Amino acid sequence: MFGRAPKKSDNTKYYEILGVSKNASQDDLKKAYRKAAIKNHPDKGGDPEKFKELAQAYEVLSDPEKREIYDQYGEDALKEGMGSGGGAHDPFDIFQSFFGGNPFGGGGSSRGRRQRRGEDVIHPLKVSLEDLYNGTSKKLSLSRNVICSKCKGKGSKSGASMKCSGCQGSGMKVSIRQLGPSMIQQMQHPCNECKGTGETINDKDRCPQCKGEKVVQEKKVLEVIVEKGMQNGQRITFPGEADEAPDTITGDIVFVLQQKEHPKFKRKGDDLIVDHTLSLTEALCGFQFILTHLDGRQLLIKSQPGEVVKPDQFKAINDEGMPMYQRPFMRGKLYIHFSVDFPDSLPPDQCKALEAVLPQEHQSSCLTWSWMNVRRQLYTM
Ligand SMILES: [Zn+2]
Ligand SMILES: [Zn+2]
Repeated sequence: MFGRAPKKSDNTKYYEILGVSKNASQDDLKKAYRKAAIKNHPDKGGDPEKFKELAQAYEVLSDPEKREIYDQYGEDALKEGMGSGGGAHDPFDIFQSFFGGNPFGGGGSSRGRRQRRGEDVIHPLKVSLEDLYNGTSKKLSLSRNVICSKCKGKGSKSGASMKCSGCQGSGMKVSIRQLGPSMIQQMQHPCNECKGTGETINDKDRCPQCKGEKVVQEKKVLEVIVEKGMQNGQRITFPGEADEAPDTITGDIVFVLQQKEHPKFKRKGDDLIVDHTLSLTEALCGFQFILTHLDGRQLLIKSQPGEVVKPDQFKAINDEGMPMYQRPFMRGKLYIHFSVDFPDSLPPDQCKALEAVLPQEHQSSCLTWSWMNVRRQLYTM
């Protein structure tokens, strides 16, 4: 692999530094590094030398290729194999890329390279009123960019990248245009050779998995839990699940609930409203009907004996509205909004029958009575 057989050197030290056995899994390594790195972080008063050793040990052992070389030939082989400067990575960078941000909370990023934050990805998520009433979970398959596992986002097999010769690593090119005899225009534009990244990767050294792109596409299934009582427009966030990119803190995937219109029920906060039309006879003499609720239960809605319902009247039923978000045992009200279907006309004999039983409220007012008589004469003439 290296042209000559390397001599065997110490190949247990890294395991001892992390306090794990030689056959530790990737998970064990991660756990061990996480615990030790937080404890020994110089920002928290830890020993910088120890912190550096931890990062170095973790960097080697977390990479299957490097780990194999280390296990077989030891630390020295690794130094030779990785060429000059290999393995001498900034321990703060390793720490930060492991935690993807500041694990201590608070804004102060006093150390390491400043990372830009990747964009959040926002998806609308259509849900029915039944979903919001009963709660549900939806599995969604998304494809996203993740850091290439083979090259750890370097884009190259060796981990090396070269300064782009087209732009000297600045990522920008300046072109000069002659506008007139004594006038020139300077224009800056992203370098076409490196797509503005300022670095190029040797064709032979290009990572075979990501073709030097540093990221690969991955399908991921997210399970979105829609809780009882959630609102239209409410956001459900998956932190750090958006596209990954080198030197970038991964953004969030955010689902925004969009409630589809329901044919029967309308929602107002924690209350539900349902329209119901009564015939005139039902409005006067009583009614009963069955209402199928959003969870399939059948409610029997009936009037009190002797109760008269007027057009546009509401009737409230307690605790049959929407469950409240994160207090699903509490519920709002269910309002029935009544319309009354009046007959278009009544035959005279039916009017007589009605007049005989219905109260004649307007008889008490003489003025109204005589005025109505005048009107009646006008129309019958
Ligand atoms: Zn360039
Ligand atoms: Zn790669």
